[in-house]
Amino acid sequence: MKNPFENAILQLNRANKIKKFDDEFLSRLHQPDREIRVSIPITMDDGSLSIYEGYRVQYNNARGPYKGGIRYHQNTDIAEVKALAFWMVLKCAVANIPMGGGKGGVTVNPKELSKTELEKLSRGWVKLMAPNIGPKVDVPAPDVNTTPEIMSWMVDEYAKITGDTTNAVITGKPIEVGGSEGRGPATGLGGFYVFDVIRKKLNMPESCNAVVQGFGNVGANAAEILTNHGHKVIAVSDSKGAIYKEDGINIKELKEYKKTNRQIAGFPGSKNISNEELLLLPCDVLFPAALENQIKKDNAKDIKAKLIVELANGPTTPEADDILFASGIPVVPDILANSGGVTVSTFEWEQNLKGEHWSESEVFEKLKKIIDEETELIYNKSIELKTDIRRAAFIIALERIEKATK
Ligand code: NAD
Repeated sequence: MKNPFENAILQLNRANKIKKFDDEFLSRLHQPDREIRVSIPITMDDGSLSIYEGYRVQYNNARGPYKGGIRYHQNTDIAEVKALAFWMVLKCAVANIPMGGGKGGVTVNPKELSKTELEKLSRGWVKLMAPNIGPKVDVPAPDVNTTPEIMSWMVDEYAKITGDTTNAVITGKPIEVGGSEGRGPATGLGGFYVFDVIRKKLNMPESCNAVVQGFGNVGANAAEILTNHGHKVIAVSDSKGAIYKEDGINIKELKEYKKTNRQIAGFPGSKNISNEELLLLPCDVLFPAALENQIKKDNAKDIKAKLIVELANGPTTPEADDILFASGIPVVPDILANSGGVTVSTFEWEQNLKGEHWSESEVFEKLKKIIDEETELIYNKSIELKTDIRRAAFIIALERIEKATK
């Protein structure tokens, strides 16, 4: 299997086959502007020293400051961060927000760190990255295993180092330190808005059976929003296992269960199934909301969902894309489906720079307008070009980036 960056470049080249872009423009997008690797030393609670490898990839800033989250994961490496940074460039262009793309990470299993160690690591990342980030340069945010609390440590460290108290250098912060209303559920909510437009285009029922892979910030919020809108979430998974309940899972209760038990397996009234089985369940819509490379050559032919909406980044490999397209299963790509997160992050940045605080309803209204318009545009483009929604989204994004570059 290719690494996520190879997959990302393959997607770029495939879109270029449908609509030919200028060679020189395209060659610039085959590599990032800058890759930064740092070694973060931490004195652990037992007095020993541990050194963690951290990254920031600044991919392209033709449309605005680099923008993208920071991932803490034991398998995170530079290839993954580069792919995620590349997708951010396209995602910001899809959402038509004034941002370029970047991404950060640390190779670490944060579940093995105490809270003090986690805070030292997060402040350490900022100490080493401070010369290269900033409100008008590069604006990080949360991603897998990074939380609003981690963002608050980071923004505080940046203020100490630089004296910048706008808090605009980091988004996804708690409300008390300049966070935006609605940032928590923004990615899941944006994904729901996208799904709602596509559902109507495909004449799918008002109440669909949904399966959600991943029960973190994105997956849990999406699952709850879906049930609030009359859909039935019949299966959910996290890294420790999956559960199935034919007549629908009560997501509010599952969230409480997870808080207490730190896993979803064993949720009363549901049946435990494997993570692999979850992906193959018959359903109207499957929402991958965990990690990359989940739907691949070996399982794509067995997918029974009628529609896939990628809330995670890079969950479907290009080989799987082909199999799904041939089977008539539309895939709504990550760069559209999860663009709600970076859109509200950009609203947060704008509020910080202007010294404003918008209401939740204002945030959601602005988000819905952007998502509805862009989903409509991309879906229609896919019909016009007789191609899949991913290639259509890439083409619209590339047109915008090319204009800005020129
Ligand atoms: P998170 O850390 O809050 O949650 C990740 C979830 O995935 C956890 O429930 C974890 O247990 C689960 N998981 C991990 N491996 C799994 C596996 N093999 N099978 C099933 N579940 C598994 O992270 P998040 O912020 O919810 O991010 C999820 C995805 O969405 C990532 O791809 C991320 O890049 C993408 N994304 C996040 C945001 C955001 O605003 N947080 C925005 C855009 C895209």
